[in-house]
Amino acid sequence: MKPQKIGDYTVRKLVEVVEPLSPEFAFVEFDQPTLDTHTSWLSPHFVEGANAEITLLFSFHTYVVQGNGKTLLIDTCVGNHKERAALPSWHMQNRPYLDNLRAMGVAPEEVDYVMCTHLHADHVGWNTRLIGGRWVPTFPNARYIFSKTDYDHHNSVSAADAKRADEDPNPGEGDFYASWADSVSPIVEAGLADIVTTDFGIDGAISLVPAPGHTPGHYCVHLQSRGDEAIFTGDMMHHPVLVAEPQWRTHFCLDPVQSTKTRRAFINQHAGGGAIVMAAHFAGPTAGRIIDNGGKPQFSALPGA
Ligand SMILES: [Zn+2]
Repeated sequence: MKPQKIGDYTVRKLVEVVEPLSPEFAFVEFDQPTLDTHTSWLSPHFVEGANAEITLLFSFHTYVVQGNGKTLLIDTCVGNHKERAALPSWHMQNRPYLDNLRAMGVAPEEVDYVMCTHLHADHVGWNTRLIGGRWVPTFPNARYIFSKTDYDHHNSVSAADAKRADEDPNPGEGDFYASWADSVSPIVEAGLADIVTTDFGIDGAISLVPAPGHTPGHYCVHLQSRGDEAIFTGDMMHHPVLVAEPQWRTHFCLDPVQSTKTRRAFINQHAGGGAIVMAAHFAGPTAGRIIDNGGKPQFSALPGA
């Protein structure tokens, strides 16, 4: 993705990794003939191969948003050295994420806000890093913005349920609680967490929009500046094909029925509009708009993005 200018703000994408996933791994139900009808617009950025051999490309990235003298990160990927036994591809990663952030001209100490659209393991990982056997905040001068609803949801789950969820290979909930211990709790204990409702905002330009379903307190980040508009949609839509087929449930959502409702409403609201959509897992050019396409919404990457 090329840097995007949204009014007074610049948005860049910091990629941790891009992984191919099979449609069966991602979706509870999908049908191959329908997926095949979308290959023409999904190729080459969002899928690889075709027909029965098709894989979906999933990017894990952070948005680096800078403007009005502030630096924000939106979602912090999987992180290094995290024990994620149920998910081998996330287990004990060792990737040059921080070096790449520094190469963008951003030192960890300069980050003012870390916004986690929700608190799953692949959105909180770089909140902390392992130093001297302890998990410490990676961004020591940042306020970390966590959803109160998600925070309360976790706290309402019993220890026995948490243990069961840790052993669940489902990437939505599995390891959620391990990531809580190594990537969320240390932030709260360090006094860096702001546990907020969706009336939170920054500088009159950045606000939160509730988007429940994937998790109960999932939020989107809305950026509006000088008439430009961008929406960081987190895991409300995991892959661009869901813009065309919003009813396909994923294995990753805690409440897939609500997730579909939220996604459908968002797509209907923004189809044909000017807002730039930046999702947490769209690969390649990533930034795009929802086009109406004769009443059949579709995701369209920005030209040259
Ligand atoms: Zn995710």
